[in-house]
Amino acid sequence: MKLDLLAIAPHPDDVELTSGGTMIRMAQAGHKTGILDLTRGETGTRGTPEMRLKEAARAGKIMGVQVRRNLGLPDAHLTVNDDYKAAVAEVIRELEPRTVILPYWEGRHPDHYTAGRLCYEACFVAGLKNYSLGGQPWRPSIILYAAAYADVRPTFAVDITAQYERRRRAILAYGSQFNPPKHDRKSRVALPLDELEERMSIQAKHYGRAIGVKYAEGFVMREVLQLDDIVRMPGRYL
Ligand SMILES: [Zn+2]
Repeated sequence: MKLDLLAIAPHPDDVELTSGGTMIRMAQAGHKTGILDLTRGETGTRGTPEMRLKEAARAGKIMGVQVRRNLGLPDAHLTVNDDYKAAVAEVIRELEPRTVILPYWEGRHPDHYTAGRLCYEACFVAGLKNYSLGGQPWRPSIILYAAAYADVRPTFAVDITAQYERRRRAILAYGSQFNPPKHDRKSRVALPLDELEERMSIQAKHYGRAIGVKYAEGFVMREVLQLDDIVRMPGRYL
């Protein structure tokens, strides 16, 4: 399929919250974008997995992605194993993304950092010719890690000021995750999404301040970036 950009995360709504503005901006720039959700978020306290799937599709449309898949791996039980790795790697081979966004490899929620590690390994084996997998070998050229949940210092940040309102709409497309029905009001297990959206908004302001704009999303690169012209390097430095 040859996607330009693929964002992968464990739960539907993670991509929206951590890199939704960047996904929107890249789609607006004419890039072919996609999202792969690893689980249906079935252990969440609000809404049903079916509702979340519908909401994810709607949020994907708002962000202008060309493809959104759900692998249906078990929520809260993600591990780095050969089966899950092969499942992700086959999607990588099929969608052929040039750049991939993953969750940061450390943090509080095991699903998030496990997904970061699992998908890094999947990107690697997807490029191995003799690894037993369907499809043709493909390895993304660039792997980025979304910084927002982990609150780490990003390598760079993307100005999403112009995309901010649309990102908010994409997040709030998950109606089942906030404003819970009466019988569900007592559940305090997970943060309601509207509260999470507010937190992520503060985070986006924080990264925005770091580059002198209103809102931004931060990304970490683990590999060393090869540059041929440091004078014409894109970006702005204060
Ligand atoms: Zn999550």
